[in-house]
Amino acid sequence: MQTTVTKFGGTSLASAQQFKKVAEIIRSDNSRRFVVASAPGKRTSDDIKVTDMLISCSKVAAEGKDFTKELAMIRDRFVSIADELGISFDIDPELESIAAQLSAGASEDYVKSRGEYLNSKLLAEYLGFPFIDAADVIIFNENGTLNNEETYKKLPAVLKTCKNAVIPGFYGSKMDGSICTFSRGGSDVTGAIVAHAADAEIYENWTDVSGMLMADPRIVKDPAPIEFISYAELRELSYMGASVLHEEAVFPARTIGIPINIRNTNRPDDSGTMITKAVPPAAKKNPITGIAGSKGFCSVLIEQEMMNTEIGYAAHVLKIFADLGLSIEHMPSGIDTMSVVLKESDVLPVRDELLSRLEEELHPNTLTIESGISLIAVVGHGMSYKPGVAAKVFSSIANAGVNIRMLDQGSSELDIIIGVNDEDYEKAICAIYEEFRA
Ligand code: ADP
Ligand code: ASP
Ligand code: MG
Repeated sequence: MQTTVTKFGGTSLASAQQFKKVAEIIRSDNSRRFVVASAPGKRTSDDIKVTDMLISCSKVAAEGKDFTKELAMIRDRFVSIADELGISFDIDPELESIAAQLSAGASEDYVKSRGEYLNSKLLAEYLGFPFIDAADVIIFNENGTLNNEETYKKLPAVLKTCKNAVIPGFYGSKMDGSICTFSRGGSDVTGAIVAHAADAEIYENWTDVSGMLMADPRIVKDPAPIEFISYAELRELSYMGASVLHEEAVFPARTIGIPINIRNTNRPDDSGTMITKAVPPAAKKNPITGIAGSKGFCSVLIEQEMMNTEIGYAAHVLKIFADLGLSIEHMPSGIDTMSVVLKESDVLPVRDELLSRLEEELHPNTLTIESGISLIAVVGHGMSYKPGVAAKVFSSIANAGVNIRMLDQGSSELDIIIGVNDEDYEKAICAIYEEFRA
């Protein structure tokens, strides 16, 4: 029997009306056996995601304050879905158990995982599918990374016994039984792990847009959809800020070559974006596949005459960053200069220590930190065989009156990274998009 693993995101499961669309999608194809569900997301743009409500509730409880009001609001979200669907699921014993855990000092990971837990129980009941608790099958290491060995031992064994099932996304448990979550948006990762464990033919990721778009729809108006994209391109775009799919979701699918299909729950007839190892040659019409980015970076610029002849200089610089636990995004360098680009929020707590260590241990001619930098990634396999693409990218930015503060090209020629001032970020993305739009 063919197996499709489906994952439905927060907006796809935010209300009874959305649950009905989800059920119709699942019932229309009986290969859609395993369903991974998120917590209820926003119903309207000013709504609050249940995960955010749970995080607030956990904070109130941690301060020793009364969390009854917060929990009641969460209860309302689930009860309104259950009532409208006519599901008999009794949520009150579940909420009593969550309240008892909150009073006993439950961890934030436990509390914020309850959105996926409760929503999946509701969905399982509505679909008439068994419920598998992710805590029993998704196993984390002590440091919060996935325990591949245990997960891929436990999960396939349980899936083998079920024709269908609903599994909550976002969380699992450590070997001691305590609940642990992925980072925000992590149900995408659970979906990919379930697809891997089920040896699925396809992993469908259902959301509120008709696939990956060439640029963030909150910046560019009606960006063109991407029909096909490679795992490598998707990884670059999602890492750089295309938040439609979690940046770690690609790995479990890629290792065994499961295609990922991003689809729209509100427009199920749209074919969405297909993510595979290689894009079919006929689909490569544009040298650029997509554009993504984010704000809030800074660049530490180190100038030292004859830096290139000093063996071990770069290694010494990197050791200082590593000692302070700083993870580096990019490192464009010249003969006598080195700049290290990293997240500003990471640097702030250790800024003084970083500068004094660089100063005292390396005595550079100049040492400066420039802040307020946005990074933009222009991604596409097509760039490597088309001369002049980079020139077009730069001239589009220049014509928009935007100053480029940093440039870096990945060694794979898969992307060009451009640094601009935070206030120019949106303008630069729109200019590049206009230049390359299909
Ligand atoms: P879900 O709740 O289904 O997991 P997310 O909110 O995590 O959905 O991801 C979908 C959202 O990602 C879209 O509504 C869109 O605003 C945003 N997004 C950002 N960049 C892109 C992009 N390049 N293509 C499509 N969507 C994008
Ligand atoms: N509900 C979680 C979040 O809001 C996980 C997810 O939706 O993937 O981040
Ligand atoms: Mg998401």
